[in-house]
Amino acid sequence: MKKVAIISGITGQDGAYLAQLLSRNDYVVVGLTRSSHNFSKKNFVYLGISENILIEECDLLDFSSIIKILLKYKPDEFYNLAAQSSVGISFEQPIGTLNYNTQSVLNILESVRLLQLDTKIYQASSSEMFGQVNNLPVNENTPFHPLSPYAISKASGYWIGVNYRESYKVFCVNGILFNHESYLRSPNFFVKKVIRTGLEIRKGIKNELRVGNIDVKRDFGYAPDYVRAMWLSLQQGKADDYLICSGNSVYLRDIINYTLDYLNIPLNRLVEDPTLFRPTDMTDMFGDNQKAKAVLGWEYNRSFFDVLTLLIEEEDKNFK
Ligand code: NAP
Repeated sequence: MKKVAIISGITGQDGAYLAQLLSRNDYVVVGLTRSSHNFSKKNFVYLGISENILIEECDLLDFSSIIKILLKYKPDEFYNLAAQSSVGISFEQPIGTLNYNTQSVLNILESVRLLQLDTKIYQASSSEMFGQVNNLPVNENTPFHPLSPYAISKASGYWIGVNYRESYKVFCVNGILFNHESYLRSPNFFVKKVIRTGLEIRKGIKNELRVGNIDVKRDFGYAPDYVRAMWLSLQQGKADDYLICSGNSVYLRDIINYTLDYLNIPLNRLVEDPTLFRPTDMTDMFGDNQKAKAVLGWEYNRSFFDVLTLLIEEEDKNFK
């Protein structure tokens, strides 16, 4: 019998790549979206998987909607990827971000518990939870000191997952993912914005690339590889937490320099704007992926500049 997987936030970057992976592995894939009228199929069309997914409208803030979906599908796996996922937006919408990103996790776990389902749950946690750290690389035992409303919301979701695992034996994995990029990344995220704006400058559509603080370092990876780790984490006999990262950090400034150079754009098109600085920010962040590699058998050996080349070429090919 085919396994059934529900993916919330399926219209996002990770949802689309995960749906592609699961449909290749012969799953019945059910994707949840907040609005089945307004949702965009563009990621599914791009990956050629529009016919492989059942779409359901489900507001994760509405407990009874989740109960109905769970009773209808009795899923083997539930990947909770839906979230207000932008750190920048979370400073503008702290209450909405905190409400959505924590209440939705609680509703899913409480529904699975009350219905006594054996559904394995994957909770999309984030490296942002670590925030201010004293020692690098961070690992699964590093304490959290979140520096944004988004990071606080993800830390709450993380602890809800741990608590349901420990108190009620619900199978809940926290995948603590570091930044991962792809052609399907939303345009408001740094790497996508740099590449896209670079192409717009080259075509004469824009004059400049305006950015905030770029003298910070982050650990970036490639989204299609990272969703594989999500899937692997639910194929284990025991639920646990895993850090998914490349293990190295790069300066945002180096990403800009590489991209502009690749596109033959002079560096004087870069404008550093202090009004775009975040109220609080981490200077450097990278993780240790040894546990994921050893326990899940996850493999990742890409340099981010190789990924960046791939992304620039894919964006250029599809640029309209
Ligand atoms: P994404 O592209 O922003 O997609 C998230 C999806 O969540 C959206 O497509 C949206 O789908 C849904 N959503 C539900 N409530 C929302 C709200 N209030 N505001 C905006 N969207 C909302 O995210 P992603 O990059 O695929 O990331 C997937 C998950 O991993 C997220 O939980 C994110 O926080 C986490 N994460 C991502 C990264 C990364 O580098 N990408 C790193 C660490 C953790 P509908 O509109 O169809 O409902």
